[in-house]
Amino acid sequence: AIMPASLSAISNGAKHGILFKGGVHLERLGNLQAIAFDKTGTLTKGKPEVTNIIVQDTIDKIDFLRTVATIENHSNHPLAQSIVAYVKEELNEDLLQSDGIEDIPGFGVKATINDHTWSIGNAELVGKPEAVSFKNGITKQLASEGKTIVYVKCNDQLAGILALKDTVREETQAAISELKEMGIYTVMLTGDGEKTAEAIAAESKIDMHIAECLPETKVHHIKELRAKFGTVGMVGDGINDAPALATASVGIAMGEGTDVALETADIVLMKNDLPRIAEAVRLSKRMNRIIK
Ligand code: ADP
Ligand code: MG
Repeated sequence: AIMPASLSAISNGAKHGILFKGGVHLERLGNLQAIAFDKTGTLTKGKPEVTNIIVQDTIDKIDFLRTVATIENHSNHPLAQSIVAYVKEELNEDLLQSDGIEDIPGFGVKATINDHTWSIGNAELVGKPEAVSFKNGITKQLASEGKTIVYVKCNDQLAGILALKDTVREETQAAISELKEMGIYTVMLTGDGEKTAEAIAAESKIDMHIAECLPETKVHHIKELRAKFGTVGMVGDGINDAPALATASVGIAMGEGTDVALETADIVLMKNDLPRIAEAVRLSKRMNRIIK
């Protein structure tokens, strides 16, 4: 049965924009030893903007953009949506017709247009050695600026890349600092590349980051953190975060996240408000003192 102290703490939380799906989650939060965050949409706004387009000398940039947008138009990944919006604005024309689009979650998309096979996504998808050596390693600098690189391969050639920059939320750094001051170890888990992850982690002042995570890799790292620290939280917004949210001692979803994340989480942050987490930990500690 829920005790009066936790009941009043839950309603207190709701007033402050934190939704607890039960007293046990609130109680656990007070014992939090470590907390992991997804990057895109959680620490960042999740609205990446196209900043650079670089193609091989033999490739026409307009054709390149038109084809990439045509394919990405079939994906609902945030990167895809940003690319489509950018190209529509730049070219001001309708996109091509295409079929045979294949979604490869965690990597990107593949498609066939006029007998040409296109792969659009991360370095793994197009082949890492090729990705790294593209135009003498030009992507390294872009990634170290915290930009995400989308690689585009046509048949056997790496045709070009797009770089997109997402913005770290204004409140991220303060929210992380507060948790660190409470003695909680902070971690970022992301599907993005190492250099990009490193830059965003530095900007967020987060203790540790792990890049190139698939949904099951996130689960693996949550398990490791639980073995090492005990009570571990996970904060995320996407379908790809749901298994990790379920694995954590306390799963926390961003209120504007996908339905699956909201359903899986134990706690929902209304208005995506990261500083509420430290507030909720304090609330829980207070409540646990009253109950004991
Ligand atoms: P995250 O949300 O952390 O970026 P995802 O699992 O959604 O993780 O994707 C992992 C990586 O795969 C992305 O960072 C991106 O590089 C690549 N990717 C996935 N889908 C697409 C897409 N539609 N277009 C371009 N790249 C994609
Ligand atoms: Mg996300």
